[in-house]
Amino acid sequence: SKVVVEAKNLRKVYPIRRGMFREPAQLQAVGGVSFTLEEGKTLAVVGESGCGKSTLARMVSLIEQPTEGTLTLDGTDAVQTPASEKRRLRQAVQLVFQNPYGSLNPRKKISAVLEAPLAINTDLKPAERAERARAMLQQVGLRPEYANRYPHMFSGGQRQRIAIARALMPGPKLVVADEPVSALDVSIQAQVLNLLADLQKELQLAYLFISHDLAVVRHIAHDVLVMYLGHVMEQGPKERIYARPLHPYTNALLASTPGIGGRNRKRIVLQGELPSPLNPPAGCVFSSRCPYAQDVCHRERPLPRPLDERLVACHFADDFLSQGFPEVPLAY
Ligand code: SF4
Ligand code: MG
Repeated sequence: SKVVVEAKNLRKVYPIRRGMFREPAQLQAVGGVSFTLEEGKTLAVVGESGCGKSTLARMVSLIEQPTEGTLTLDGTDAVQTPASEKRRLRQAVQLVFQNPYGSLNPRKKISAVLEAPLAINTDLKPAERAERARAMLQQVGLRPEYANRYPHMFSGGQRQRIAIARALMPGPKLVVADEPVSALDVSIQAQVLNLLADLQKELQLAYLFISHDLAVVRHIAHDVLVMYLGHVMEQGPKERIYARPLHPYTNALLASTPGIGGRNRKRIVLQGELPSPLNPPAGCVFSSRCPYAQDVCHRERPLPRPLDERLVACHFADDFLSQGFPEVPLAY
């Protein structure tokens, strides 16, 4: 099937100044991420806040330019492409944000919200645009006559449906959704996730789904990319990773997710704080919080390498594959 996104070694570094003398320094938000995403598929990017997942989403959405790496969207080089071509690419990638209350202009009727992208980018007549907007409302499970209403008349779940409708109006190939259900009640979350899944099947959409919530990701993802401090820890098919994580960080995340832990999986509470990306640990970036860290972990950074149908960035992943994860040591 058709590849919608191909990212190779995407890296984002922000120049900053720090300290008493405001010395120039570098903050690496994303340290080299590669993935392929096909139409009709969802890649979930998972991690704690500050892990770089939103920066990755902004690069793939063409909001931020990568410092390094290549990004191919819908067959076109999205980094080197000229401005005119970029306009077309921006139509092909649409965003859904976390906050359904903040993302809709309260002064604009839903019809205006939905029709705006068509007014700029198509030759459709006003009546045709209105008809499209009404059809799209139906496609996201809302009444067509809601087009005449204002955002404040809707619940959080309805607003997120409207935000999804707006994202679909330009006919995107890729939808980048940054925590799209995190602000909703759990009962509403399932409805919106089901809607996203239905729309994906109907329209063969690719989703880049950003989330900290592994219970949510389980419902929607085909592939999972686990990030920590800007780096990929583990990446591969969801089934494989959920059934048997091979990176200690993935293992800890899954073990602390209600309803996923499994019979034999002890809850693991990670010690310590997330380090500052300005001052990442030497060697493995997870070493300051990893219950299994050895000397080599503090010296050498493990690169993601193929193992058991996924990529894992851990010096001891082979041992975890053959022997499982040991009990977390008492001294941890
Ligand atoms: Fe833990 Fe070492 Fe593996 Fe990093 S490389 S995850 S510190 S065991
Ligand atoms: Mg974020």
